Amino acid sequence: MTIEIRWHGRGGQGAVTVSKVLASAALQCGKYAQAFPEYGPERSGAPVKAYNRFDDKPIVIHCGVYEPDRVAVLDETLLSTEDVTQGLSGEGGLVVNTKRSPEEIREATGYPGSIVCVDAEGIAEETGSRYANVPLLGALGSILPFMRLEALEAALRKALSRMKPEKIEKNVEALRRGYAETQTLEPDPKRLQRYEARRAQDGLPSYQELPPGGVITPEVRECPETGGWRNERPDFREELCVNCLLCWAHCPEPAILTDHQTMTGFDYRYCKGCGICAAVCPTEAIVMVEERGEATGTPEPEDAKAPAKGGVGG
Ligand code: SF4
Ligand code: SF4
Repeated sequence: MTIEIRWHGRGGQGAVTVSKVLASAALQCGKYAQAFPEYGPERSGAPVKAYNRFDDKPIVIHCGVYEPDRVAVLDETLLSTEDVTQGLSGEGGLVVNTKRSPEEIREATGYPGSIVCVDAEGIAEETGSRYANVPLLGALGSILPFMRLEALEAALRKALSRMKPEKIEKNVEALRRGYAETQTLEPDPKRLQRYEARRAQDGLPSYQELPPGGVITPEVRECPETGGWRNERPDFREELCVNCLLCWAHCPEPAILTDHQTMTGFDYRYCKGCGICAAVCPTEAIVMVEERGEATGTPEPEDAKAPAKGGVGG
């Protein structure tokens, strides 16, 4: 049986490291295993995803994980900026580093499957292991049917072998506590059926469903909302705009809003804060400001409408 996992974290939190430790532990449990990362913007604090794939037989696919069986969230602020349950199987489980209860996480995410909460950050502080990734690894390991705590411990010791022995022991203690100190909310069968029906509509077609040649037409896939990547946001000074639409032409996301071929602002659901629009704007009508700074002259995200694909909206 194949089990696929997606990790959500931020740069510097160690999501990629623990995905590798998990793969190493799975090998010791007799599984075939993969671990691979997906980086967004290369900066500390930017959202990062990592993946695992496990199977009883050799794994011949090397594509990304689109319909994970488990999702582990290292930084709970991502619950509001990333669609962490995207594609997640209702039969699977969502594991979150949080002080909140699983009921609160269900409320926040709408996920009706099994929810596992662990205060990984608190455990890391108390044990002196420093990072929440290790206790979260323990919590995730506790809900994998094939995983043994001893295998996780051995893989962790191997990965940390260059550290001082006392530091290794602190991490092992954090792992054990993460494994043991979970709060679990069972699936809600009433909501599962609706969730699975919606998931079937949202997901990419599996390769068996594609026509020969494997063409995925643009309308099959929605544009990913990259707004959560931002450290800075573009600010629009409408009075300086000469409506050349260079910003629209260069923006790598559908983030520039237009109305009757006139620049009107940004759709912050998609704007990832790359700053290209400000760089190409000839009149300084766009400047980059801190994400927390107040933007002017732009529609609020909830009112914003993405421009039509392939042409200027409006
Ligand atoms: S910063 Fe500008 S170019 Fe970059 S995604 Fe946002 S709107 Fe587009
Ligand atoms: S590049 Fe600058 S001047 Fe041109 S449409 Fe965009 S904001 Fe206006």
